[in-house]
Amino acid sequence: MDITFSAEELAFRDQVREFLAENWTEDLARRIRGEDEEFKAAQIEWQNKLNDKGWLAPGWPVEHGGVAWSVTENFIFETERSLAGAPDVVPFGLKMVAPVIYGFGNDEQKKRFLPRILKSQDWWCQGYSEPGAGSDLAALKTKAELDGDDYIVNGAKVWTTYAQYADWIFCLVRTDSSGKRQDGISFLLIDMKSPGITVNKISSIDDHHSLNEVVFDNVRVPVANRIGEQDKGWTYAKALLAHERTSIAAVADSKRRLRDLRKLLSEEISGGRPLLEDVQFQNRLSNTEIELMALEYTELRVLASTADGKGPGVESSLLKIKGTEIQQAIQQMYMDLAGYYSGVLHGDETAESIGHAFGHDARKAYMYGRAATIYGGSNEVQKNITAKYVLGL
Ligand SMILES: Cc1cc2nc3c(=O)[nH]c(=O)nc-3n(C[C@H](O)[C@H](O)[C@H](O)COP(=O)(O)OP(=O)(O)OC[C@H]3O[C@@H](n4cnc5c(N)ncnc54)[C@H](O)[C@@H]3O)c2cc1C
Repeated sequence: MDITFSAEELAFRDQVREFLAENWTEDLARRIRGEDEEFKAAQIEWQNKLNDKGWLAPGWPVEHGGVAWSVTENFIFETERSLAGAPDVVPFGLKMVAPVIYGFGNDEQKKRFLPRILKSQDWWCQGYSEPGAGSDLAALKTKAELDGDDYIVNGAKVWTTYAQYADWIFCLVRTDSSGKRQDGISFLLIDMKSPGITVNKISSIDDHHSLNEVVFDNVRVPVANRIGEQDKGWTYAKALLAHERTSIAAVADSKRRLRDLRKLLSEEISGGRPLLEDVQFQNRLSNTEIELMALEYTELRVLASTADGKGPGVESSLLKIKGTEIQQAIQQMYMDLAGYYSGVLHGDETAESIGHAFGHDARKAYMYGRAATIYGGSNEVQKNITAKYVLGL
């Protein structure tokens, strides 16, 4: 793996910078931080700008509209995107269900769904977890029973991120209960407008609405919307999870957060000196930067093997554990830097006038950030996977 930049790669970096300077505007950044429909519209606008440039889908096969970037080009793009403060794409369509569709779907499904995902015409959500089936996902009970050319789906999914915006949900459902639990699961694509679907809001600790419960009451789903074979959904689901965990590491975003933190620490005076000169802060900052650098190289190794056609394997569990631990360490430092002002809640009418502008953002990020070691498969479970499959214990 060679990541020294060639002249072509440096030229590519300039191209990315130019694109970001033109397209990642302050107005778009403000709207994407908004709530509800404003956020959704701005996110779609941003994804469409990337798609118009042909840069929306690295990793997708080129014949389906993907970008054949090398590992280094991908690294350059992610680093520059993040340093500019631009968001990642919403992963459920582009990074999760799309690889399952182009990897295991039939031609009809590829033609029907992939172009709409690229144009952000369909917003997707992920229906894996259920009350009683999270870490132990194979315990899922949402049932799909065959009735002519349809399945009839009954049950409930929970913690479904952005289901309130979604046009489609990809779901793991139980189609057989007779044998080994993993052998009776199928992978269905379900239109959220189908009669019998109810979305119930769940408020999270950061006072934000991203989570939902999705209830299915006799929902008809055409058999044509099943990916691959009936009862083989577990295989497709596992492939998707490896992609999900690799993205959750969010290395480039942690780099930007650390860069911004350094700047804030140098501006914040405590006892007559910048906080950056505080030995304890220096230690914490340096340790986190070193860990992040090590993680970055691990991620590049995983991406290099993905480029060789192997796909992210169990190493993605390592990336997930370390990446989320680093995110939480950074969030903790922002909270400590903001001190009392991290107690000012976003949405409080006086928030802008009390203390540091970054105080309430620090608090929101910290609150929501507790979830990072839980979603995408909890870190405890990722440690079990690492022990078994990476270390062979
Ligand atoms: C913010 C957020 C967004 C989410 N978005 C989605 C989404 O869009 N779609 C979706 O399908 N799901 C989503 N999830 C659900 C997520 O995948 C589950 O929360 C996760 O898999 C853990 O399952 P659980 O919550 O049922 O906890 P449990 O599985 O009940 O675990 C509880 C605790 O026990 C520990 N534990 C469990 N089993 C073991 C074991 N074998 N060894 C050691 N420790 C163990 C866990 O680490 C955890 O600390 C989201 C969750 C969050 C928090």
